[in-house]
Amino acid sequence: MKVGFVYDPIYLKHDTGQHPENAKRLEAIISHLERTGLTQQLTPIRPRAASIEELSLVHDEQYISHIRGVAQKGGGWLNVDTVMSSNSYEAALYAAGGVIRATEAVINGEVDSALALVRPPGHHATYEQAMGFCLFNNVAIATKCALANYKLERILIVDFDVHHGNGTQAAFYDNPHVLYISTHEYPFYPGTGSIEETGSGTAGGTTINIPLPAGSGDTEYLEVFEQIIVPAAIRFKPQLILVSAGYDAHWADELALMQVSVTGFAQMVKIIKGLGDELCDGRLVFSLEGGYNLTALAASVKATFDIVLGNTAIEDRLGQPPRSFKAPSIAPLIKKIKEIHKLV
Ligand SMILES: [Zn+2]
Repeated sequence: MKVGFVYDPIYLKHDTGQHPENAKRLEAIISHLERTGLTQQLTPIRPRAASIEELSLVHDEQYISHIRGVAQKGGGWLNVDTVMSSNSYEAALYAAGGVIRATEAVINGEVDSALALVRPPGHHATYEQAMGFCLFNNVAIATKCALANYKLERILIVDFDVHHGNGTQAAFYDNPHVLYISTHEYPFYPGTGSIEETGSGTAGGTTINIPLPAGSGDTEYLEVFEQIIVPAAIRFKPQLILVSAGYDAHWADELALMQVSVTGFAQMVKIIKGLGDELCDGRLVFSLEGGYNLTALAASVKATFDIVLGNTAIEDRLGQPPRSFKAPSIAPLIKKIKEIHKLV
C-alpha cells in the first residue's frame, strides 16, 4: 500500500499572525508524524503551483488577480475572518497545486492514495470570494482538473469538516458528475447546508447535506456515515473519492461544538477507505481543511494516515469528551434525508 503525502514549507509562509488558522497547525502535524515514525511509511509528493487556467476552472480571473494584488501590497484582511500576508498568494497556488498533484499521482498510479497537508484551506472559497480562512478552493479545483484532464465522469467529494463547504457545494451544484456530501454542525457558519439544498437541474440529488445538531459525537457521525454516505456512494459508483478532511468537529476544538474523538475520525476514515476499496480501486485523496486544537489535529491526521496505511492500532490519548452531553436525537433527521434522496 503506497500512501502519498503532499507537504511543502511554502505552506508555513501564509502568515496569518494571531489567527486560529496559522502555520503552527501544519508544524504540529509534521512534527507529530516525524516523532511517531509515520513519515517513513509515506511517499512524498512534491506540490507545484496551480496555473491560472487551473484556478479559473473554479474562480473568476478578476478575483485571482485581486488576491495576487493584495499579496503584492504586503497582504491584509479580505473580510472579517480571512487574512493574507505577502506570501499567501504563492502558498495558495501551491495549496491548490498540491491537491492537483495528489490527485494526479493517485489517478496515474504513482501512489494508491494520498493526503495533501496544505494551507490555506479551501472549501469555503467561492467563485469570486475569499471566505472562512480560504482563498482558493483546493478540492474543487483538483476535482475540476480530474474531470477535464482524465475524462472521469463520477467523482465523490466527502466533506467532514465541521463547517459546511459552501464553496465546494456551489462549484458543483449544477454538475451531475460530482456527488458532494457534507456533514456539518448546523445551524452554524457559513449558514448554508440545509437538507433542502440538493443540487439543481440535471444535478438534482448530487448534493447531499447532513446538517447535524451541536453536541453530535462519534455515535451520530458513524450513524450518518453508515446510513446515508455509504448507500449514496454505492449508488453513485465514483471513479475517485476526494475528502475535505477538516478535524474541527473534535470535542477539544474551540471553533465548534461537536464531540467527535480521534477514534471517531479514524472510524469515519475507515468507512471512506472501505468505499474507496469497494468502488474505485482505493483511489482516495484527502485534503486538509480545518482543525484548530493542535493536539487533536495532529493526532487525527496521524490516525487518518494509519487507517489508510492499514495500521490497526490507533492512538487516542485525548479519548472521549470529558463532559457528557445529552446525545442529540438524529433519527428523524436521518429518516428525512433518506426520503429526500430516496435512500430507503
Ligand atoms: Zn471548518
